[in-house]
Amino acid sequence: MLLVENYFKPIYHLLFPHVCNGCGTELLSNEKTICTTCLSFMPKTNFHLIINNPMEQKMAVRTRIENATAYCYFNKGGAIQHLLHGLKYQRKQEIGLLLGRRFGKQMEDVRWLQDIDLLMPIPLSKQKLKARGFNQSESITLGMADALNKPMDTAAVIRTKNTASQTNKTRAERISNMTDAFLVAYPEFIRNKHILLIDDVITTGATLEACADTILKIPGTRVSIATLAYAVE
Ligand SMILES: [Zn+2]
Repeated sequence: MLLVENYFKPIYHLLFPHVCNGCGTELLSNEKTICTTCLSFMPKTNFHLIINNPMEQKMAVRTRIENATAYCYFNKGGAIQHLLHGLKYQRKQEIGLLLGRRFGKQMEDVRWLQDIDLLMPIPLSKQKLKARGFNQSESITLGMADALNKPMDTAAVIRTKNTASQTNKTRAERISNMTDAFLVAYPEFIRNKHILLIDDVITTGATLEACADTILKIPGTRVSIATLAYAVE
């Protein structure tokens, strides 16, 4: 069997090259999905170690957030852009799972994380979920839930509005675009809970703000935020 494997390996690799989703170089036999170099040189924010970090400051003017952190900075053309693209548009859920696990592992000793009751990915609208086939933030959340040994919920909050692309809108338009975009379907699931809201990338923070505002209407709730990437506006 080993002989057969070794014999066919070069042909197999020629037909199905295993390349890193971040940089495109061929993966070594002990690597999977993302190469060691990409993982080592990820531009980490380490926001979880900084009190009143830039992400917390960004969200503080928008809504009432307990804590906020991001795994790494979003740099255009960098590995993280390729990884997020692969996750979102090529449906490579393994990217979300792997980075989510590493993100979770990085934060397992953070004190405020111990206080989190529930992990929740930013939901997609029904139409978008149908078109994309899966929620990319859910893959990240699954990885984090696994590393942190915390429960995840995807039913309590739903997205009612299929918001159009935010990129060409003014700040005011973006905010009005997000109003009433979310709805709490099962308030009893989240009452008195500290929820960690998870998204792939934070840019303006409008989506996270709208979702947090909806959750915070339920008595006793608190919201913290974690995203894989932090884009500097
Ligand atoms: Zn790589």
